[in-house]
Amino acid sequence: AASDVYKRQDIDKAGWSFDNTYAKLPNDFLVKQAPIPVKSPELIILNKSLSKNLNLDFTNIKEESLSQLFSGNLLPAGSNSIAQAYAGHQFGHFTMLGDGRAVLMGEHVSKNGDRHDIQFKGSGKTPFSRSGDGRAALGPMLREYIISEAMHELGVPTTRSLAVVKTGENVIRETHLPGAILTRIAASHIRVGTFQYIAATQKEQNLKVLFDYVINRHYPNIKNSKNQALDLLKTIMNVQINLVIDWMRIGFIHGVMNTDNVSICGETIDYGPCAFMDAYNPDTVFSSIDQQARYSFSNQPKIIKWNLARFAECIITLIDDNKDKAIEIATEAINSFEKIYEEKWLNMMRDKLGLFGEDINDQILIMELLTWMHKNKVDYTNTFCFLMNEKFYDNEIYKDANFLIWKEKWEDRLKLNNNSQEKYLKLMHSVNPIIIPRNHKVEEALTAANNGDLEVMNKLLAVLKKPYESQNSIIDFQSPAPSSDKAYQTFCGT
Ligand code: AMP
Ligand code: MG
Repeated sequence: AASDVYKRQDIDKAGWSFDNTYAKLPNDFLVKQAPIPVKSPELIILNKSLSKNLNLDFTNIKEESLSQLFSGNLLPAGSNSIAQAYAGHQFGHFTMLGDGRAVLMGEHVSKNGDRHDIQFKGSGKTPFSRSGDGRAALGPMLREYIISEAMHELGVPTTRSLAVVKTGENVIRETHLPGAILTRIAASHIRVGTFQYIAATQKEQNLKVLFDYVINRHYPNIKNSKNQALDLLKTIMNVQINLVIDWMRIGFIHGVMNTDNVSICGETIDYGPCAFMDAYNPDTVFSSIDQQARYSFSNQPKIIKWNLARFAECIITLIDDNKDKAIEIATEAINSFEKIYEEKWLNMMRDKLGLFGEDINDQILIMELLTWMHKNKVDYTNTFCFLMNEKFYDNEIYKDANFLIWKEKWEDRLKLNNNSQEKYLKLMHSVNPIIIPRNHKVEEALTAANNGDLEVMNKLLAVLKKPYESQNSIIDFQSPAPSSDKAYQTFCGT
């Protein structure tokens, strides 16, 4: 239609700079797939600060055109929409998957040269949809928006959220729900599962194509390595360890760490049943379908190691021509996981407690605090706030005798290494969030948004922008869920 021509010209004004390299990979990697148009798209939220980072300017584009753009109804010039193939171990079982309800619209290169995948999630059926409808509901897409942006502000590597539109169509879940599409930004959408898919097709030349592509795009410094495959394994292990350490630092539980949800570039990806822990309990699970507690809080490092072993299997032929030798080399690398993880974890916990240097009793000191929190069901985030003298809300639990005994030991330890209050508080404030997206606050925002009121969500997003700063009137965002919410559950297949 004529009006579409104007809208298309409108959306082309944003300053796109597409260079779609993944779309040029062999046919086994992807299918060309346009988003399936939706009836009457309506822009719900647009991330202005992220737009700026991407050097995209939507300010002079009409809202109508933005709704057409972020629903995928009208694509900007230079985009090249595809669905990516991948596989995955889902709760331990291997399945061939692929983008079943998402398409990669293109790769946008910002002025500093950074390359960003722009993906629509909820964009309709693809050849990988299996029995699914290819769609997504408004609640879960806004949930991904809120939590991924919170994670970004918390300093955790993550995919980000550029926009959410309502489609004007219903999706059928347990009930009819308003449909929505999320625009997701990622360094890339290459997963451990992408390697598993290509490995499963047993075309050795494709494996080399993917391997070279990943090194060129994400880890160009490995090009000069003596053993590129081994160094890629070690590098990905390193970024994934750092990622999980960040999750453990802030009490984040991903909830569905299937190999298709593990990004090769070390970003948190796929915000489905994830949630933040309030009372400290290493066994915490929120996801209703995680019956075996496979992805519980304390299992996260073990699972990442398991997922990395699956990755190593995919590239084993590239590690050494001699299969036995390749397995030996890869096994040695994977077995170094615990030592690297434990050392980093210990240092992360030292930072949380404001401890400089190393003391032989540090691990015991840390474990004693965690055990006390666990036994007494004490809030993880707020305990560190209490230790930083941050006002939050009255809680009698910190008068507990066992806690006070522990606190004295901690205060003695603080005195080592010329530590001053100024120094340790600065360190603690850099790693201990005051604000996290509390489950009940997220739910409150989503309920209001579902009823057409976006103010609650916008207020929450504003508070989440400064998670490490003391802000005025935020007590309501700091309190753990009322006890009636204790059995908080999240749902997959959203
Ligand atoms: P996820 O649980 O979001 O990581 O999705 C796992 C797999 O299921 C991916 O291949 C998705 O594309 C696919 N999937 C999830 N929901 C749908 C849906 N509503 N329609 C089609 N495919 C879906
Ligand atoms: Mg996924």
